[in-house]
Formats: sequence, structure tokens, C-alpha cells
Amino acid sequence: CGIVGYVGAQQPSSRPLDVVMEGLRRLEYRGYDSAGVAVVTGPGGELATAKKAGKLVNLVDELAAHPLPAATAAIGHTRWATHGAPNDVNAHPHVAGPIAVIHNGIVENFAVLKAELTAAGATFLSETDTEVAAHLLAREYADCHDLSTAMCAVARRLRGTFTLLAVHADVPDVVVGARHDSPLVVGIGVGETFLGSDVAAFIAHTREALELGQDQVVTITPDGATVTDFDGEPAAARRFTVDWDA
Ligand code: GLU
Repeated sequence: CGIVGYVGAQQPSSRPLDVVMEGLRRLEYRGYDSAGVAVVTGPGGELATAKKAGKLVNLVDELAAHPLPAATAAIGHTRWATHGAPNDVNAHPHVAGPIAVIHNGIVENFAVLKAELTAAGATFLSETDTEVAAHLLAREYADCHDLSTAMCAVARRLRGTFTLLAVHADVPDVVVGARHDSPLVVGIGVGETFLGSDVAAFIAHTREALELGQDQVVTITPDGATVTDFDGEPAAARRFTVDWDA
């Protein structure tokens, strides 16, 4: 029930994961049953994930036992299971080839999409509704080689509610997000950019924020954020300054 994203190329290599783990801690109040992270490393592009059922401390222990590589971008998720038991496999991120996806909400048409993707050769590892988004995104990206365009195409196909974030090993300085009936906020830093399901995720780092509107896709890089509608047309998000105490 929490989502965090980070990209910042000039930062120490531990910062993306540190920021995301701290953000997840600050979102713990929303409740969750599992937690996970994905990082991408550039240049050359490597994707790695860690995920565990239970409290964040389980993920912290997992990361200590099996450290992730240095990163330029990271995404983090706390799950409140709706489809599939709360276990390690069903925890997010969900991976399809070079892509990792995290999702809060429900993909109502997942059964139809899963049947279509399975017929096309995709292998599913989890029982979640979310995993269809990972496979769809991998396929769309293979066609267009642009993560924002691919996310728009996926967002147009999903029914239900979603805050969705994704990273791709080929573009280690980018995180993309989409939202429909579920919140997503951008934090604008200096040489680093944040995403969160609420501002608590990044309030320790910046107070400059953008609130995404309904049915928008956002692409963050270390230099800022680009917002479009689900057709890829430029869209405006509301800029504001967070004025409450961290
Ligand atoms: N429906 C997804 C799942 O069960 C996401 C749940 C959530 O919002 O955390 O995995």
C-alpha cells in the first residue's frame, strides 16, 4: 500500500536504495503485508530485485544477506494483497525480462490479459493481478523502445485502479509511473527526482512537488519530470510546495 521511486545520477551509489527504503518506512502507517525493491544500474544496464513477505525488517535482512548492486534508480513497494497470498513470490516488484513493475490497486481485467499473454508465450511466476502489467510493458517496450510510450500503451489496456511504476535495465536513469483512481506525487530535487504514493515518501528530501492528475503518465530523470496523458500528449500536473513538518 505504498510506492516510492527515485532517480539521481550524480548521487552516491547507495542513495537510490537508501531513499526508497526510508520512503517505505515513512509509508508503513498505510499498512502492508510484504515489501520489495528493484534497482537499475547504468551504464550497461543491470536490473536486480529483492522482496519479502512480512514487515520491512525482513526485506532489510534480505538486503543485508544479499546486497543489490550499486544503482542509479530504484523503486520500492509495500503490498496489501488483493490477488494471491502474501508470500515472497507474490510480493512486488514483478519482473518480465529487463523490466520491473510495482503496483498499488487492482487490475480488474487481469484474467483476460493473462490468457492473452500466456497464449503469446509469457510465463507467469506469481498469482497476482499485477504481473500482467510487467509482461505487457516488456512487450510494448520491445516494439517502441521508449518506456514512456510503452507505459501509456499499458495504462490504456488496464481496467481497475492503479498506481504503477516501472524501471527498465536499458534506461537506468529513468523511472516511469502511471495513475488511475490511485494517487501519485512527484518530488523535485536538485539533480534527483522522487515519486511517492504520498509526499511522506520524499518529504525528508524535497518540498517541491507535482501532484499528478487522473490518467496521467510521468517520466522522471535526474533533471525533473515529464507528464503526459495516456495518449502521450503533454499534460499539466499541479505544482505545490509541501508546507507541513516532516
Ligand atoms: N493487487 C495487487 C496485488 O495483490 C496490488 C495490491 C496493493 O495495492 O498493494 O498484488
